[in-house]
Amino acid sequence: MDKPAMYHQAHGKYAYPVGAETLRVMLRVKKGDVHSVTVVYSDRYQAEPAYTQTMELAAQDELFDYYQADLTLKTKSFRYMFWLDDGVDQTFMTEKGFFSDPPDNTEYQYPYIAPRDLWEPPQWAQGALVYEIFAERFANGDPTNDPEDVEDWEKLPTTESMKGGDLKGILEKLDHIVDLGVEVLYLTPIFVSPSNHKYNITDYYHIDPQFGDLADCRALVEACHARGIRVMFDAVFNHCGYEFFAFQDVLKNGRQSPHWDWFAIEDTPITTDPPNYLTFANNFWNMPKLMTQNPEVRQYLLGVAEYWIRECDIDGWRLDVPNEVDHEFWREFRQRVKKIKPDALIIGELWHEASEWVQGDQFDAVMNYPFFEAVTDWLGKDTIRAASFAERLAKVQMNHRQVVNLAMYNLIGSHDTARFLTVAQGNRKKLRLAAGLMMTYEGAPMIYYGDEVGMEGENDPDCRRGMLWGSQKQDQELLQWYKKLAVLRRQYPVLKTGHCRTVWADGISNVFGFTRFDEQQQLLVLMNNSAQQRTVKLTDKLWPQDAPKQVRDLLTGATSNGSVTLEPLTMTILQG
Ligand code: CA
Repeated sequence: MDKPAMYHQAHGKYAYPVGAETLRVMLRVKKGDVHSVTVVYSDRYQAEPAYTQTMELAAQDELFDYYQADLTLKTKSFRYMFWLDDGVDQTFMTEKGFFSDPPDNTEYQYPYIAPRDLWEPPQWAQGALVYEIFAERFANGDPTNDPEDVEDWEKLPTTESMKGGDLKGILEKLDHIVDLGVEVLYLTPIFVSPSNHKYNITDYYHIDPQFGDLADCRALVEACHARGIRVMFDAVFNHCGYEFFAFQDVLKNGRQSPHWDWFAIEDTPITTDPPNYLTFANNFWNMPKLMTQNPEVRQYLLGVAEYWIRECDIDGWRLDVPNEVDHEFWREFRQRVKKIKPDALIIGELWHEASEWVQGDQFDAVMNYPFFEAVTDWLGKDTIRAASFAERLAKVQMNHRQVVNLAMYNLIGSHDTARFLTVAQGNRKKLRLAAGLMMTYEGAPMIYYGDEVGMEGENDPDCRRGMLWGSQKQDQELLQWYKKLAVLRRQYPVLKTGHCRTVWADGISNVFGFTRFDEQQQLLVLMNNSAQQRTVKLTDKLWPQDAPKQVRDLLTGATSNGSVTLEPLTMTILQG
């Protein structure tokens, strides 16, 4: 047995409550190293009686197997150790090491399931269908508020382009979003800012007049709420825009400005080329970095977070580059936001390993860029095959509590990436598969506006084209596919909140399969990312419960038993 590879700690993602009396424990071992793992557990204060439970192999990544078990004790107070068997050797694994006969009091301890530690992201956000709109490019509902130099809607955008999109436009086109089955609308920033993306904010307390005003904003949120759609705003608390009042005051008054300490400025005179003050990404002179350790800055920004929930009744925040802001700021941010709206959602934009931010004290979940990258590589670019793809998904999945995974924004593209269809060189079958994966896999699928009608575009600014309107220009077949998947999500709640296990990941056939299941239902999703027809035998090991005698394809209605055949670049969602 490879003991150095074995890992457990009695907190974080390795031990967390999933019920008032139920603790989920996870053990990591070297891939393929052991045959079985059993947990021996008892009440923390009374070693007898001791219970045993076999652990389930929950996931496998490139290097490791992850075993899980849910342990229930009425006393909510646990001590436990693992019994590992590789067919030749056996050992106990405890907090103090490996033993054949563990000494007393060497077990791991999870002292108590305190009710408030049974934390989860808002339930409405778990598995919800999200739609991201780049506000300047969705629809122009009011030409009178257009910027002066507004361009033709369909002309390819540059970094400077203004197209005239606004809040009225979104309101007018709400039917498109409703028909798609969207449950959460996520808008890129809409506050006063000179740019088209508005990530350099001039005034956090006002809607950019080119998008509308407070009344338009309220009208949009109300209309969304009336149709069961939640609304997420986007803001940057890491940096402001050059025109932000505090930075302007510093430019004018230098060290005498009461806002001097809001920024990190080397000296006067203040220069912009290169900037002699800290900025976003070290070189954006028009995005001065805010010093969130300064109490005045904190109060100002936290006031912003509260203001828009109070004034517009928004349902949460998506936070731009939050990993360059201190953790303490986000802890305070969460407290203040949740005090006003307990079920508000907080999503961070993180592209990398993010577990530190989703422990219940900062964000509810993050944008799932590791998912995006894995899907892009497997389906978009064909640079990895199904086995590696599954390993990469498993790594992300095992990195968070399940409830966090359910709220992760699973995306296949955003305003910061090339569009999936372009990455896949226009192959619509690939896009159908990627969308199908996103809509059936564990998480909250996030559709980037226009993907559903076949929009294309290289990375920023090309991925921010004006939305395609009119049934002639929109790919209707693709749109129907998205709608069909959204309907299935509503019909089968197991697709939103069920457990998720990879059951098939074949590097040769390039077929990937996973199940979504709960106590009532089990669905099996199979995807064939190859140019050949593939037949998959529906053996017992593909199903979490008993293998069904007959299965029905929810996409076509066709029934089969024993095996299922997939045409090239197609998928199936089988109900047992
Ligand atoms: Ca306009």
